[in-house]
Amino acid sequence: MTIVSIVKNADPARALKDAVELIGGLDVKGTVLVKPNLSCARPSGSGLVTNVEVVKAVVEMVAARGARPIVGDLPILGWDADAVFDTTGIREIEKAGGEFIDWRNNHVEIQLQEAGVLKKVRIARPAIEADYIINVPVLKHHFFTHISGAMKNLFGVVEPDFRPLVHVLGLDEPLVDLYEFLRPKVALNVLDATCIAQSVRPSGPYYGPTAARSVTKLNMIAVSRDAVALDATAARMIRVDPEAVEMVRLAAGRGLGTMNPQTIGNARGATLRIKRSPLGRILPYAQDAWSSERLNRISHPLVRRMYGDDVVTLEDARHEMDRADPANIVVAGACKRCGLCTSACPVKNITLSGSRPILGNKCIKCFICVEICPDGALAIERKSQ
Ligand code: SF4
Ligand code: SF4
Repeated sequence: MTIVSIVKNADPARALKDAVELIGGLDVKGTVLVKPNLSCARPSGSGLVTNVEVVKAVVEMVAARGARPIVGDLPILGWDADAVFDTTGIREIEKAGGEFIDWRNNHVEIQLQEAGVLKKVRIARPAIEADYIINVPVLKHHFFTHISGAMKNLFGVVEPDFRPLVHVLGLDEPLVDLYEFLRPKVALNVLDATCIAQSVRPSGPYYGPTAARSVTKLNMIAVSRDAVALDATAARMIRVDPEAVEMVRLAAGRGLGTMNPQTIGNARGATLRIKRSPLGRILPYAQDAWSSERLNRISHPLVRRMYGDDVVTLEDARHEMDRADPANIVVAGACKRCGLCTSACPVKNITLSGSRPILGNKCIKCFICVEICPDGALAIERKSQ
């Protein structure tokens, strides 16, 4: 029986130790790549990158077993890697006995003969050469894949310039292909749920972006050897039906893991609590209720009254997102001219003119510009509008 342990403790190292003991311990040797989520220049504890205290605890655990812990990741295309490493404070892991690896110029091409769609990919050499991988994602909503958890986190080993192709191939299936390739090396998946960033929102005529609207402190760590089981559990934790998460469904269908593991630990069955907001913050409270799988049905009429008839149910929003046409990328918010979208676009299809980005006609439909905008200025216009 596949087990996922979920432990709540304000001390991440204690939570990790208990969670790992509950699944029968950790047995690694040689070089162990500890792979956090360092997707953007946001501080540890923001819920958008893995909490450095969790990464340090994993590094200490690996070193205590006599193995060599190395740590690495690269951000979403467009973010400056040095700024990300500085802002996240990831080099703190060196105090815990880890070695930070900057693999910017160190990728190798791999052929994936058995893959569904991702037949070749360029991967960080340390991920190929490590004896084991410990995958340390942060749990967050994701507007394409619904959740960003264990399988999505492994995307960070792919060379940034190669990632748009993975987006174009549909993201879910290529992510499963990548997981299938790396799976024999993945000794453990450690989900950082110490802080959770919620970013799903009922946005009227638009769907957008990944900027966190609210962060909830959960102080939880969930651990499993099975990334599919962990992602299914993570989805339930934020009240998303795992069946609605295509990469989880696909991976389970290909026999790479289970969607129905046994869960144990003092936080077993825990789900994200909707914070009670003061009266002046009724709007975010309503948005939280709308984005909750459990509360959407009853909160939707209220949210619709507040936002207008454009707001559809969460289920309809997901269906529309799945069919989204990137020709409908629009400027929906205030652009701060940071230039991230222009540098991230793999085909240089975006220029900044005045106070807004202008999209040309070379779009390859990768959606990276929408994903990367830290201010939520870019969004996808709904087809029905
Ligand atoms: S403009 Fe098109 S090709 Fe460029 S990042 Fe956006 S979606 Fe991708
Ligand atoms: S649209 Fe977003 S990412 Fe692009 S320049 Fe404006 S603020 Fe930056």
